[in-house]
Amino acid sequence: MPLTDSHCHLNFPGLREREREILDAMREHGVLRALNISTQVAEFDDVLACAQRNPQVWATVGVHPDTPPGPDEVDMATLVARARNPVVLALGETGLDYFRLEGRTREDMQWQRDRFALHIQAAREVGKPLVVHTRAAADDTLAMLREQGAEQVGGVLHCFTESWEVARAALDLGFYISLSGILTFKNARELQDVARRLPEDRILVETDSPYLAPVPHRGQTNQPGYTRFVARFLAELRGCDESRVEEFTEANFDRLFKPVAH
Ligand SMILES: [Zn+2]
Ligand SMILES: [Zn+2]
Repeated sequence: MPLTDSHCHLNFPGLREREREILDAMREHGVLRALNISTQVAEFDDVLACAQRNPQVWATVGVHPDTPPGPDEVDMATLVARARNPVVLALGETGLDYFRLEGRTREDMQWQRDRFALHIQAAREVGKPLVVHTRAAADDTLAMLREQGAEQVGGVLHCFTESWEVARAALDLGFYISLSGILTFKNARELQDVARRLPEDRILVETDSPYLAPVPHRGQTNQPGYTRFVARFLAELRGCDESRVEEFTEANFDRLFKPVAH
C-alpha cells in the first residue's frame, strides 16, 4: 500500500522551484498522493494550478490564521466558488493561532475567529471538510467547531500537537487527527502517547512540508516523500506493521476527502 501526504505546501519556497524532483522523490518513497494546502488569497491560483497539472496532487482553498487581515481579505463568495472545483477537496487551512499574540490579547483576535467562522460556513455551504490549524488556542477552536456546526462536514486537526483531552474532543466531533514529523522528535513524548491511543479509523499522516522534517531528516527542508518516515515511526510506536498504517491512513484519507481522479 502507498501513503498520502494529507498536508503540504508545494508552492512554498524550497519546494516550488523543484516541483518535478519533489514529485519524483515522493513516488520513490511510495507516497503517491498529496494534498496541497492554501494559506492566503494570493496563493489560490498557484495551489490549484499545481493540482491541475499533477494527477497525484489535490488542493484546498483557505486563509491561514497567521495571514494578517488585509485589503484582499477573503469573502464567502470567493471561498464557495473556489471550493466547488472538484480538484479542491477541503476548506483550509483555517483555524486559530494565538501563539504569536505579541502584546495583543485574545480579544484583539476577533478577526481570526470571524475568518474561521466564515470558513466553517463555506465548508457547510459546499459540503466539504475543514483542514484546521490550531495553536495555543485549543479551547476556542473546539468551541467554534461546535458552535458553527462543523460536525456536519467534519475535517482534520492538522499537525496535531495538543493533549489527549483535545484529541478526544475532536474525535467526539467526528474529526480526524493528522500526525506530522513532530511525532518523531525526541521531546514529543506526550504526543507519542496520544498517537498510541488514537483509534485507527481517525488517523492521517502529513509532512506540513517544507517545515518540520521528521527524523532522520530533522532540520532539513521537508518534502511530501518524508510522510514515509512519519508512518514508519507511527507503526513502531503502535507496534504494528507499516503496511497496517498505510492501509488505515489511506482508507481514512479517502473517507474524509473523497478525492476524485483528475
Ligand atoms: Zn498549519
Ligand atoms: Zn500548513
